[in-house]
Amino acid sequence: MAARLVSRCGAVGAAAYSSPLVSCRRWSGASTDAVYDVVVSGGGLVGAAMACALGYDIHFHDKKILLLEAGPKKVLEKLSETYSNRVSSISPGSATLLSSFGAWDRICNMRYRAFRRMQVWDACSEALIMFDKDNLDDMGYIVENDVIMHALTKQLEAVSDRVMVLYRSKAIRYTWPCPFPMADSSPWVHITLGDGSTFQTKLLIGADGHNSGVRQAAGIQNVSWNYDQSAVVATLRLSEATENNVAWQRFLPSGPIALLPWSDADHTDFIDTAGAMLQYAVGLLKPTKVSARQLPPSVARVDAKSRVLFPLGLGHAAEYVRPRVALIGDAAHRVHPLAGQGVNMGFGDISSLAHHLSTAAFNGKDLGSMSHLTGYETERQRHNTALLAATDLLKRLYSTSAAPLVLLRTWGLQATNAVSPLKEQIMAFASK
Ligand SMILES: Cc1cc2nc3c(=O)[nH]c(=O)nc-3n(C[C@H](O)[C@H](O)[C@H](O)COP(=O)(O)OP(=O)(O)OC[C@H]3O[C@@H](n4cnc5c(N)ncnc54)[C@H](O)[C@@H]3O)c2cc1C
Repeated sequence: MAARLVSRCGAVGAAAYSSPLVSCRRWSGASTDAVYDVVVSGGGLVGAAMACALGYDIHFHDKKILLLEAGPKKVLEKLSETYSNRVSSISPGSATLLSSFGAWDRICNMRYRAFRRMQVWDACSEALIMFDKDNLDDMGYIVENDVIMHALTKQLEAVSDRVMVLYRSKAIRYTWPCPFPMADSSPWVHITLGDGSTFQTKLLIGADGHNSGVRQAAGIQNVSWNYDQSAVVATLRLSEATENNVAWQRFLPSGPIALLPWSDADHTDFIDTAGAMLQYAVGLLKPTKVSARQLPPSVARVDAKSRVLFPLGLGHAAEYVRPRVALIGDAAHRVHPLAGQGVNMGFGDISSLAHHLSTAAFNGKDLGSMSHLTGYETERQRHNTALLAATDLLKRLYSTSAAPLVLLRTWGLQATNAVSPLKEQIMAFASK
């Protein structure tokens, strides 16, 4: 696997990731590295699903794919009786993507909860908005991240002839061909792992999370800021039985609080997520003034061991693609979880990128060429920018109890609630 690296312009190692320079290098003669058609760096929910989407694509039957994951392999030997509090709200569009390579069936055979209604309301006024599907379609599904990861890992095992997965394998350096390569130089991206092994690829997909090393090594600018908030996630035990197919979200000045449905035959649990101080929020969740709205169930206790804290921030890559590189998932965009859209945006990236790559493979085109990568970028930036902007605006609008802004958002929420076509459009956008 040793590569004969002769000269390198601005090679980027782990310590130099902050460099905005695109690194490139010249190689002497043919390299002995294995060459993959696609390498996906980062095997979280999004990277693993990307590898599945390509591994199961008929037009990729003769292609070689490599998935690199810094962490260990994650399979559940047995579904634990206690719920994991790391759950995601999965949109119907994401469920369709997962179905396309068999992962959704596995999830359905394990554990998930559908929800059909969502009520969002303001703690500073009586304003509320209710989303529901009158045709009884599911609005979304609450699924444990471990269950999704297990399903993806099992689906990857079934296509191991096409997709090679290396766990505990951290990529520490990526180098690109020079813009005007010599006749004998390698035209592919080179990847070096922590153990010294090296690979080449025609297309490198960065799915390595919001601190993406691929993004930094490619010199792609990232607009980012941290919110002065952390998310607290915990499992709650409710004091009364409930229909348990409603997702609740209340905007408090200290941050939003969401109750996501979760139960089995014997338990009535909710997952509590996003923003603020949990104890404070639980106090506020107890029903206050009664109006025509539906009231959330009251909380009997919080499973103390289940509490976890996540710092929150926003990030958006200025470009999603460069020659021979594409970014997906949190590597391209990081969003506040108040809308429960982060992983759904990543799955949307996969549907788009896999579609463009499949067409390129069918037409015998170079997978790393900008001609189809830019199609992916345009499609997804249009969708993701709108969602990032709306989420950030909501976060700011609801972080204040200043009277003019409370009035403005009260009017906005009530007006939106009254206009059914607008609500339907919001639901259609969020369900992608
Ligand atoms: C509290 C909270 C609640 C949320 N709820 C929802 C929700 O309800 N719905 C929703 O859609 N989204 C939700 N999200 C967002 C969602 O969790 C993320 O958007 C999603 O997990 C991002 O997945 P990813 O695979 O892109 O990145 P990550 O999960 O960060 O995965 C990146 C992977 O890359 C690997 N890696 C990194 N560097 C390297 C390297 N150099 N070499 C090899 N591997 C590497 C890491 O080990 C990791 O496995 C929530 C987020 C939070 C914090």
